[in-house]
Amino acid sequence: MKRSVLFAAILVAALAAVPLAQDPAPAPAPPPAPANPRLDALKTEAIADVDKRAQFSQQMVDQIFSFGELGFQEVETNRYLIDVLKKNGFAVQEGVAGVPTAFVANWGSGKPVIALGSDIDGIPQASQKPGVAWHEPLIDGAPGHGEGHNSGQAVNITAALAVKKIMEREKLSGTIRIWPGTAEELVGTKAYFVRAGLFKDVDIALFTHVSDNLDVSWGARSGTGLVSVQYSFQGETAHAAGSPWRGRSALDAVQLMDIGWNFRREHLRLSQRSHSVVVDGGDQPNVVPRSASIWYYFREIDYPHIKELWETGDTIAKAAAMMAGVEVLPTKLLGSAWPQHFNRTVAETTWANIQKVGTPQWSDADQQLAKALQKELKNPRAEGLTMKIGNSLSGPVRENNGGGSDDIGDVSWNVPTVTLRYPSNIPGLPGHNWANAISMATPIAHKGVTAGAKVQAMTMLDLVMRPELIDQAWKYFREVQTKETKYEPLIRTGDQPATWLNKATMDKYRPEMKKYYYDPSRYKSYLDQLGIKYPTVK
Ligand SMILES: [Zn+2]
Repeated sequence: MKRSVLFAAILVAALAAVPLAQDPAPAPAPPPAPANPRLDALKTEAIADVDKRAQFSQQMVDQIFSFGELGFQEVETNRYLIDVLKKNGFAVQEGVAGVPTAFVANWGSGKPVIALGSDIDGIPQASQKPGVAWHEPLIDGAPGHGEGHNSGQAVNITAALAVKKIMEREKLSGTIRIWPGTAEELVGTKAYFVRAGLFKDVDIALFTHVSDNLDVSWGARSGTGLVSVQYSFQGETAHAAGSPWRGRSALDAVQLMDIGWNFRREHLRLSQRSHSVVVDGGDQPNVVPRSASIWYYFREIDYPHIKELWETGDTIAKAAAMMAGVEVLPTKLLGSAWPQHFNRTVAETTWANIQKVGTPQWSDADQQLAKALQKELKNPRAEGLTMKIGNSLSGPVRENNGGGSDDIGDVSWNVPTVTLRYPSNIPGLPGHNWANAISMATPIAHKGVTAGAKVQAMTMLDLVMRPELIDQAWKYFREVQTKETKYEPLIRTGDQPATWLNKATMDKYRPEMKKYYYDPSRYKSYLDQLGIKYPTVK
């Protein structure tokens, strides 16, 4: 008796908590989708078509994996994507927004304009043989796809081609726009894309990002926005032993700034994240360093606090320069990102399509690879790949304790946007690491991409055939999301994309990496080309 009363009390409490947890923001309730047999039939057709394109998707995933290019140097990736899109009837504008490795591809005409984006860049030191469940680089020290950004364009382009075929035959109005998230790891371009007007006429932005499950969400996301700032100091050289009193060390200022920031860290908000690397620490010990630079990511959960953190950085840099008797040069903004906020209507539409697709059918080999890697990483629960989609669509985050960033945030404050996550990776990995590259040119990535493309294609058909969704999405955008928060770019008027970044690293490794580019005319898959048995486990 007592136990049942307690149970009832818990149940009441749990039910009472549900609306709060999911919906702190006032938002129009979604009307149920009206019966639309024509739309349903076209969705069924699109799903079958995406399945038929599985080899095309696999080749894109493997090809971009094999390029393994770092941000702003995605030369081969860019060339390849442009060729694929041109061959498939897209009109391509190259080198947009002052970024040589960016493009905008358009097909179709009129409204709605649906923009499909996904990141394309890799991670330093993430070179890794796919399908091998331990750290084994293809080329030691080289970059690689240790984030899985080799897969998102395949999701979008596969979906776009399936939908394009239907739109042509059915004479449906609409424009499909495809664009790359160039240099996302440097949060280097999307604010510039916004500034250049790439999203001015866009109705809905559908972004995709690799994950270990199919998922989407709406409202304010957990995680941060950021500014990426480089501080450079200038002193004077002198013989470090003969006449050190005549020199002024720029490296001293870098070290003092580092110490100053780390003392200040104790008095910063818990939600901040900040980290730095020294990119120039002087030339050789017997010459007092004339120049030195330190590069920070300053992360916070909203625009005013990002600006505040940045100002604190500027103050500490000035103070460090005064202590060292050197000058701070004008700062370089190397990247920026707004915190992300996703659209409710578009997320609900996408979520309904996720229900229809479900998780891929994993093979024993897929599960063996996943479990072996989880064990290798000493993951206490080596549970393998995700077998079912989440229970419910997640809404606005209630307590944001900080975390990573993505400059899709800037797009999300300019046009209704969601990020579709798709299951091409293995759960429980560290991120930005060789381990995250292991599945990314294997059947796990390929199946995840096909699942993602099915969802994306269905959502595109929803947007093309149900114009009321676009109106609802903009109503949420105007009346809820941007009611109190207005977008102001973090990039300053004179700032330009930092397109020189990673050039030296790619110049160093590219000649060796070229030997491993995937050749789909000779090999069915990249695993075949590398002669890797799938899975390779201990
Ligand atoms: Zn990413």
